[in-house]
Amino acid sequence: MDAILSKNPSFHKPQHRGKKYCAPFCGRGCTWDEFQTAKRDAKKLATSLGKGWKPNVWENLGWHYSAISPCGRIKVHKGFIAFLGDPDSSGGRWAEHGKTAKSAIRNTIAVAKAELKKIGGYLTGLPNF
Ligand SMILES: [Zn+2]
Repeated sequence: MDAILSKNPSFHKPQHRGKKYCAPFCGRGCTWDEFQTAKRDAKKLATSLGKGWKPNVWENLGWHYSAISPCGRIKVHKGFIAFLGDPDSSGGRWAEHGKTAKSAIRNTIAVAKAELKKIGGYLTGLPNF
């Protein structure tokens, strides 16, 4: 991406023209209806996961959404895929699918815990230097 264009705030701001709602950087021709659907689905997903979960909507060749946990470490995308990692990251250190949002979260946490246990095993009984 051109560095000069990416620093222009209007380059990333969606423009509402007729039925279109799309930013210049995207250029897909995203629609206002798609944006509204993503917002609605994001809210529905966040509500389904419990108190404090926040809906999140973004544009990148279409309107996408996720729900973010109250602690910010878990992000669930439609499909479903859950990411676990730093609150400030856009993705996560671990990511797993699930048939439901909750099963995606359970699968991701299970893989992270299994990996942590494995790492613990590597560190057990090491010689001191
Ligand atoms: Zn777009």
